Amino acid sequence: MPAVVADTLIGGQWVGAADRIDVTDPADVAVVVATVPALTGLDVVAAFDAASLGFAEWSARSAFDRADVLRRAAGLVRDRAASIAADVSAENGKTIAEATGETLKAADFLDYYAGMARESHGALLHDARPNHRAMVRRQPLGIVLAITPWNDPLLTPARKVAPALMCGNAVVLKPATETPLSGLHLARALHDAGLPAGALNVVTGRSGAIGDALLDDARIAAVTFTGSNAVGEALRARVAVRNVRFQAELGGKNATVVLADADLDTAAAGIVAASFGQAGQRCTATSRVIVDRPIAGELVRRLVERVRALRIGPPVDANTQIGPLVSVTHRASVAAFVDRAVADGAEVASGGRPPESHDLARGCYYEPTIVTGVSADMEIWREEVFGPVVAVMLVDGLDAAIDAVNDSEYGLSAAIYTNRLDAAEHFADRVDCGQIAINTATSGWDVHMPFGGFRRSGSAFKEQGTGAVNFYTKVKTVAIHLPPRVGGGA
Ligand code: NAP
Repeated sequence: MPAVVADTLIGGQWVGAADRIDVTDPADVAVVVATVPALTGLDVVAAFDAASLGFAEWSARSAFDRADVLRRAAGLVRDRAASIAADVSAENGKTIAEATGETLKAADFLDYYAGMARESHGALLHDARPNHRAMVRRQPLGIVLAITPWNDPLLTPARKVAPALMCGNAVVLKPATETPLSGLHLARALHDAGLPAGALNVVTGRSGAIGDALLDDARIAAVTFTGSNAVGEALRARVAVRNVRFQAELGGKNATVVLADADLDTAAAGIVAASFGQAGQRCTATSRVIVDRPIAGELVRRLVERVRALRIGPPVDANTQIGPLVSVTHRASVAAFVDRAVADGAEVASGGRPPESHDLARGCYYEPTIVTGVSADMEIWREEVFGPVVAVMLVDGLDAAIDAVNDSEYGLSAAIYTNRLDAAEHFADRVDCGQIAINTATSGWDVHMPFGGFRRSGSAFKEQGTGAVNFYTKVKTVAIHLPPRVGGGA
C-alpha cells in the first residue's frame, strides 16, 4: 500500500513541504506508513506568526466558546478512535488495545479541560482599606511551545494542548520525528471542531533542522517539554536566560518494592503489567524491583513464569501483549544496556535478546527481560533503559527498601506491595517521588490526577488535574476602590 501523504496544520491551513520525512512501522521497518513535511526554520517562523494571530483571537473568546471547541474535538477523537488508534499503533508499535486506550484518554483530556473551563480561575480577596476590594485573575500566557516524545504520541500532546487551549493560550506543537501522525490527528480534531486559525500549529520536522528556530523565537511565553533528560535539561537552561516559563517531564527509574508480607501473585501481576506494558516504553514503567530477601526467589520465579507467558507479536494481532520497540536504534540501545549489565556481573533470568521467530525478524522486537544479581552501583540499576527490561535487587526490610527507592537521581513513580497499612503509609510519606502506588502499578494515572516527577524527573509544575492551570496561566492581582455608596434605595 502506498504511504499516506500527511500535511501539517499551520495558521488554519494544511500545508506540505518539498522535503518530507518517512514514518516507518516498527513492526516492519521496511514499511513506510506515511510521510510528513520536513519543515524548515522559515516555516517555524511562519508557525509563530500564525500563533500570534491565533492567540489574539482565541484568548478573546469566552470560556464557554473555548469549552465548546474542546468538547466537540473530544467527540471527534472518539468517533475516529479506530483509525486514530491504527495510526498510533502503526507509527509507535504499541498494540491496538494500548493505542485505543491512549486515544480514548486523549479524548478524556479534551473533555476534562472543557468542563474545567467553566470553573472559577480567580478569587475575591479582602482589602484592609475602606471601600476597597481585591481579586486575583488568571490570564493566558500567550504562545506555548509544546515538545513531545514518541512513546505516548497522542496522549502527551493532548495532556498539554487541552489545558493550554482551555486557558486561552495558542500552541505550537513539535511532535517527535518518529511519531508525528498522532499529534496531527489531535490537530485535525481540534481544527474540525472549530478551533480558530493559528490557535494550534503543528511543526513536523527534525529537531536538528528546526530546533534553533523553535527555541529562540522571542514570542514564546512558555515551553512544556516531555522527553529525555539530556534534551530537556539543555532546553531548560537555554530558555531560562530569557525568563521563559518551563515545564518538564523527563526520565524515570521507577521502583516497585515487594515486602515479605505481600500477596505475591498480586505483586507479580502488577510488576509485569507496569514493566512490560507498551514494551516498557512508558515514563512510569517499573524498571527496578526491590524485594525483601526472604521472598526474593519465589517472586522472581513467579515473574519469570508470567513473563514467559507473554505473547510478543505484531501490534495489529489482537492476541499480542508486547509489540515492537519504536525503532531499530532504540532496540540497539536497550540491548546494549542488557549486554553491559551482564558484563557488570548481572544475570539474565528471562529474555535478554530479540525473539527468534522468523515472522518478527523485520520488526524492532525485544523479549521482555528480567535481570537479577543486580547491585546498586550497576548502570542497569541507575540509568533509564526505557524498554522491556526490569532489574531486581534484594534488600532487608522496609527502611532499606525506601533508601533504595530514593537512591536515584530520578523521582517519578514508585510502588509498594504489602498488607501492612503502617508500611504503606510510611512508604508514601518517605519516598521522594511524585506518584506513589500502593498495591498497584507504578503507571496508570488518570487525567484528573496531578502528574509529574520530583528531582531530575520533572519540574515545579505538575501536569494534569486542576493544577495544570498554574503552568498555563499568569496571576494578576487587581485592587478596586469602590466609591462610597451615595443615597439609599435598591
Ligand atoms: P527526546 O529525544 O528528548 O525527544 C523529545 C522531543 O524533543 C522530540 O520531539 C524531539 O524531536 C525533541 N527535541 C530533541 N532535541 C531538540 C532540540 N534541540 N530542540 C527542540 N526539540 C528537540 O526524548 P524521546 O526519546 O522522544 O522520549 C523518551 C524520553 O521521554 C525518555 O527519557 C522518557 O523517560 C521521557 N518521557 C518522560 C515522561 C514523563 O512524564 N516524565 C513521559 C514520556 C516520556 P525529534 O524527534 O525531532 O528529535
